[in-house]
Amino acid sequence: MLRQLTDLLGRAGVLGPEDDIARHIHEPRGRFHGRPLAVARPDSTDQLARVVNFCREHRLPMVTQGGHTGLVGGGSASIDESELIISLERLNRIRRVDPDDASLVAEAGCTLAAVREAADAHAMLYPVSLASEGTATIGGTIATNAGGNLTIRYGNTRSQVLGLEVVLADGRVVSDLAPLRKDNSGYDIKQLFIGSEGTLGIISAATLALAARPAQTATAMVATDSLKAGLALLAQLRKRMGETLSACEFMPRLAMEFVLEYLDSARDPFDQPHPWYVLVQVDSAVDGDWLETRLLDMLQDTLSEKIVSDVVVADSMTKADQLWRLRESISPAQRVGGVSLKHDISVPVSSIPAFVEQASLGLSDAVPGIRPCIFGHLGDGNLHFNLSQPEGMDAEQFRALEDRCNRIIFDLVGHFNGSIAAEHGIGQLRRKELATGQPRKVELMRALKKSLDPHGLLNPGKVV
Ligand SMILES: Cc1cc2nc3c(=O)[nH]c(=O)nc-3n(C[C@H](O)[C@H](O)[C@H](O)COP(=O)(O)OP(=O)(O)OC[C@H]3O[C@@H](n4cnc5c(N)ncnc54)[C@H](O)[C@@H]3O)c2cc1C
Repeated sequence: MLRQLTDLLGRAGVLGPEDDIARHIHEPRGRFHGRPLAVARPDSTDQLARVVNFCREHRLPMVTQGGHTGLVGGGSASIDESELIISLERLNRIRRVDPDDASLVAEAGCTLAAVREAADAHAMLYPVSLASEGTATIGGTIATNAGGNLTIRYGNTRSQVLGLEVVLADGRVVSDLAPLRKDNSGYDIKQLFIGSEGTLGIISAATLALAARPAQTATAMVATDSLKAGLALLAQLRKRMGETLSACEFMPRLAMEFVLEYLDSARDPFDQPHPWYVLVQVDSAVDGDWLETRLLDMLQDTLSEKIVSDVVVADSMTKADQLWRLRESISPAQRVGGVSLKHDISVPVSSIPAFVEQASLGLSDAVPGIRPCIFGHLGDGNLHFNLSQPEGMDAEQFRALEDRCNRIIFDLVGHFNGSIAAEHGIGQLRRKELATGQPRKVELMRALKKSLDPHGLLNPGKVV
């Protein structure tokens, strides 16, 4: 089979078990490891369609990979060498940038960073930004409907996709790359593939909407006594900063302590500890220097009204970067607290305080001393509900409690009409929870899967 694949794609187009394929095998958090038959690396849509056809003829299961930065096992092959990884890494051209249409067309294997750079070169912004953007690809971000810090203003990846080119399970190419903002001619087929995690088709290219590049930015860290106060601050930001509000992130004191211990260069922005912190960023594409003053005035009013406890506004880019580093270092810094059980969930923004309170109480009852380190995107309801092990508890003993902790969190997510997978998708990690929590939805998803992939060859064992 490897020889036939090499005939189709050339020597550079196929990596066998004897080649260096480590990056295609191990997922970043080390939770999933696959052992594929081989890695196919088509460098054009035509080659991709030929590989898919080959797999259909030989009933060979396919696992699509972009940058392999996913965290739920969606891009991992099984361990029995029965699946072919199809890596899109060589399909990485920016086909065109159209400033008049405020759009660009990128192939699926372009990294998110390359797309952001291409937009920037035309004084525009591709408004999806992730810590993994140097490796994560456009295809992967579309297939997982990735969201980042700017979701409150621009929406997640779905909001940026104007058109897609997709190779179906039978090898046919469906292409609609027109940069249209309005198109009500029947079902919006591209939506099926956005967030489908490689189970319904393989995305080969996309037309993406671009936004105006900010000309002014202001950043502040705000200390609050409670999450309720954080929401009162958010309401003021929406009212007084309008559409300039681009990010509104929150973190608890425990996260700040982890980061201060983990990063030598980190400094507490305040002279005393506070229960919660909210990081705010506002941007405007309009030239001028009024934005920082407006943010400062607004925050000073919330301080006088005792909505918030303290405020630091960054007076330089360096200071703004330092504030962002505190927020962005939380994930790695959690190692300081030992084992961390991670949950990427969302609830309606208005429910965040009640959800956090009830979940924290339930968890403390079940595991005395457990340390919830809950941070994330206050503006869009996405919480990284991570649990650090109780001090002094054995790591394995804590890991063994994962199912029990998951149950408490996911039951409450259901109660609050939230989602068990806000950013990373379902992959292999959350399949069971999806099937038990939303049986009707999964029934419909299976029907769709059957009609688009009747032989179940696209990313088997993932999502449904
Ligand atoms: C440090 C770090 C920070 C992160 N931050 C965020 C964040 O803020 N927000 C967020 O949403 N995620 C985040 N992630 C997770 C991850 O980066 C995203 O899910 C990203 O979208 C995955 O892109 P990828 O190219 O690496 O896809 P992969 O990991 O290769 O694949 C992910 C899924 O998409 C499918 N897929 C990949 N390419 C295609 C394609 N062309 N066609 C069809 N299916 C495809 C795969 O089969 C798999 O199911 C982070 C990860 C890391 C390591």
